[in-house]
Amino acid sequence: MTETTYTLSPWSLADLFASQDSPELQAALQGLETLVAGFETWRAELNARISTASFMEVVRHLEHIQHVANRVYGFALLRFSADTQDQSAQSFLAQTEQLMADVQNRTLFFSLWWKDLDDAEAQRLMADTGDYRYWLQVIRQFKPHTLSEPEEKIINIKDITGSRALNTLYDAITNRYVFKLEVDGEVKELTRDALMVYVRQADPDLRARAYQELYRVYGQDGPILGQVYQTLVRDWRNEQVDLRHFTSPIAARNLQNDLPDEVVSTLLEVCQRNASLYQRYFRLKARWLGMERLRRYDIYAPVDKSERTYSYDVAAETVLDSFHRFDPLVARLARRIFDENHLDSEVRPGKMDGAFCETLSPDLTPWVLVNYQGRAEDVATLAHELGHAVHSMLAEQHSIFTQQSNLPLAETASTFGEMLLVDRLLAEESDATVRRDLLFRQVDDTYATIMRQAFFALFEREAHELIQQGATVDELSTAYMENLKEQFGDAVQLSDEFRWEWVSIPHIHHVPFYVYAYSFGQLLVLSLYQQYKAEGESFKPRYLKLLSAGGSETPVRLLTEAGIDVYRAGFWQGGFDVIRGWIEQLEELPISL
Ligand SMILES: [Zn+2]
Repeated sequence: MTETTYTLSPWSLADLFASQDSPELQAALQGLETLVAGFETWRAELNARISTASFMEVVRHLEHIQHVANRVYGFALLRFSADTQDQSAQSFLAQTEQLMADVQNRTLFFSLWWKDLDDAEAQRLMADTGDYRYWLQVIRQFKPHTLSEPEEKIINIKDITGSRALNTLYDAITNRYVFKLEVDGEVKELTRDALMVYVRQADPDLRARAYQELYRVYGQDGPILGQVYQTLVRDWRNEQVDLRHFTSPIAARNLQNDLPDEVVSTLLEVCQRNASLYQRYFRLKARWLGMERLRRYDIYAPVDKSERTYSYDVAAETVLDSFHRFDPLVARLARRIFDENHLDSEVRPGKMDGAFCETLSPDLTPWVLVNYQGRAEDVATLAHELGHAVHSMLAEQHSIFTQQSNLPLAETASTFGEMLLVDRLLAEESDATVRRDLLFRQVDDTYATIMRQAFFALFEREAHELIQQGATVDELSTAYMENLKEQFGDAVQLSDEFRWEWVSIPHIHHVPFYVYAYSFGQLLVLSLYQQYKAEGESFKPRYLKLLSAGGSETPVRLLTEAGIDVYRAGFWQGGFDVIRGWIEQLEELPISL
């Protein structure tokens, strides 16, 4: 399909700046200061009678600042990611972060003024703002839940020594945990991340001991961590429900995600109803592992792995070709990442782990970082990150404020891109062991991102009510075990130490109800994929239009325009139907390959 060959390489940041001491970078820093100082002079002009022309000038000025700031910050961040051990990159990043915080503080008066403005005035000014409208609307979204200035000030001040201090304390307590695990006759002292590597290993005893050690340590502090949680939950209700008048604790998060309460409830109900699907999968997985019944310890146990690897060249061709088969435009955009040398693909000492796609502004092609090692999952990761880049590029006609979609839609193109790739590999792979690995990977991943997270959110919803009614830490642990029993049924044997799992999840402490966004994003894409399979060609323009909208409109409206009714349980069920398809394919494979 192309004469290009793809080789593992670092990226080039030349489209940003030639180097850290380039005159252009110094000029950009100078320019940023001038722009911000200029913006501050608008402060006196902001009032309810400002003309629409002046208002647009203010918005464009802020947009200009954002462009320059993202370019500088992006350079610092990407340079650091490429070599995290480089001291000058470290200090430049820290310096830039400080500068960005300054810029934010000095320009904050605009959004405060804008949020405070009366509806009629805001409507007048918003009428002709075109692409900026949704961004402006989002800033005002919290107005009905905003208190008077002195009240907001008091909350801010008291949060520093209140909820924020409790979160810091939680981190301080849990980050110093040391986990001890005997591996090959030697007792290792491990961090949590290092310990969790062992729950994915082949030795069943090692997996069990790793989990037992995890919850032995968390369980020792369980009563204290649980008390921290109770207090955070009370604080959340006092503030969000009693003071800010949200209808329920979860409603405050829903507004942040710009999702209607009913949609989130429907999503969680459909997840709850599909618990039996993963139970069926866990029964199948037990058979593959030669076990009578899976223990909770064995959820992530590996089924034997094939030795198949993919050269980078083949990986790049395969990803681009699977994109091309969906739509040539998608492949063309993805290829830009390679052609413009915006992809850091090789494994190097000091380079940041994992993978990401960084979008800086609509006029810059995004940068992608992966650590390519040739496994099937590395090919899928490449497709995932390139999908993110394609999403940004499809939306590059928008402003810097509206290019990137908000959280519920942020994983759409990435996960969809991964689906295109995996589907193609499955269709063309004749080696049953490779197909098996791909299918197990898909189902394991969707378990972790959809079902597990949905059950966390269900627990949170219940815990917020129980704590309101005065539940003790032990009663919360009991409720958590009930939640696990519902999730796993009789397919998975639970052991008692999992009663402390909830105290070990930072998200539910720090960002209440954040976790359902994972379930939303992933299930949304599976449902979309289901529609694509059912409708073929006619699906494509609607999907591309959805991506092209970026973050210029509320998620539900974008989805509705794309013909998707997220209020309907049947839509979400479509996502589980895809997973059921994978499980059925696995069930057809002869065990003991
Ligand atoms: Zn992603």
